[in-house]
Amino acid sequence: MSLHRLASRPEATRGRRIPEPLAPTRNDFQRDRDRVIHSTAFRRLVYKTQVFLNHEGDLFRTRLTHSLEVAQLGRSIARSLGLNEDLVEAISLAHDLGHTPFGHAGQDALNASMHATSTVDQPDEGGEPRGGFEHNMQSLRVVDELEERYPSFNGLNLCFETREGILKHCSRANAEWIESREPGGVAARFLNHQSPSLEAQLANLADEIAYNAHDIDDGVRSGLLTLEQLESVDLFRRYLVGVQNDHPSLGGRRLLFESIRRMLSEQVYDVIAATELAVRVSGVVDADDVRQSPVLVGFSTAMRAESSALKRFLMLNLYRHPQVMETTGRARQIVTDLYRIYLEAPQEMSLSPVSTPGLSLRRRVADYIAGMTDRFAIREHTRLTGLSLF
Ligand code: MG
Repeated sequence: MSLHRLASRPEATRGRRIPEPLAPTRNDFQRDRDRVIHSTAFRRLVYKTQVFLNHEGDLFRTRLTHSLEVAQLGRSIARSLGLNEDLVEAISLAHDLGHTPFGHAGQDALNASMHATSTVDQPDEGGEPRGGFEHNMQSLRVVDELEERYPSFNGLNLCFETREGILKHCSRANAEWIESREPGGVAARFLNHQSPSLEAQLANLADEIAYNAHDIDDGVRSGLLTLEQLESVDLFRRYLVGVQNDHPSLGGRRLLFESIRRMLSEQVYDVIAATELAVRVSGVVDADDVRQSPVLVGFSTAMRAESSALKRFLMLNLYRHPQVMETTGRARQIVTDLYRIYLEAPQEMSLSPVSTPGLSLRRRVADYIAGMTDRFAIREHTRLTGLSLF
């Protein structure tokens, strides 16, 4: 299928930070996707928490299976819209590479620890991100600096368009920091209020569609959510009632899966229709012009409201469920303890993180902890404190 005129094209890439010759058999976006898949950070995602801790059950989503589902949804929508599937896939697979162990609890704990020690040591001029810990910033840091796979450069040296998509959000301080090193680069849009490529916009939305759906599945599977509770969510109830009408004797998993399947399909069709309409009325003429326009990839107004209501439901009933909060409390303690211990005794960090000159100890410790899988963090915590929190 031919690409839409607004799609990103590998031959028009703004390129890599370090120029490299083209690969003989793959375009630049395909090559980026392959570099992500072969990275160490990508393999670690299999042992990192999405919502449920890795050891709580073998069938819950991990960051890896989540990322694969995002890529599947993103590619599927990209194909229908004529956007670049390879770029959407590369961004989707890389979007969570910077996540700490233990999901958002780990990230919040690491961020708080870094802020609490902000006066311990200061980086040399310009050497590292500002402030505390931001997971989008860290995902970019993984592909730009932390992966050690090539003889002559740090990181994976990905294309501008892939890096732009990975940096989904960014604080103003970090946008200014990136801009000072890379003028007009991947952070400029946060300062100029511009949009990223349509492929980046799509990967971002596919993330939301994926986690809303799979968190319902995992929530019910774990017993923390019930179908009765979910009936209070308009979006879900519509499909649940539809399935019950079509299959009156259906219950259990098949009822749940079929309801989720219909919800996913409708959301995909909604994004395709709403985006086609937005593109038509925007008057945007080419891929560069997309960046001057407001975000074009999105739900219809009605679906946006329903998806947001589902997110609020999951926040209230799943992510803040007492049982989830109890495990995240212990996870937070592990990250907080590890940070404090490594800061006092850096020699305890067995695998040496990339030794970039000018990097503060705080940042080296944060990089080290952020790279850990859940179980490595648990093991390290037990080794260093004698405690067994899990
Ligand atoms: Mg995600």
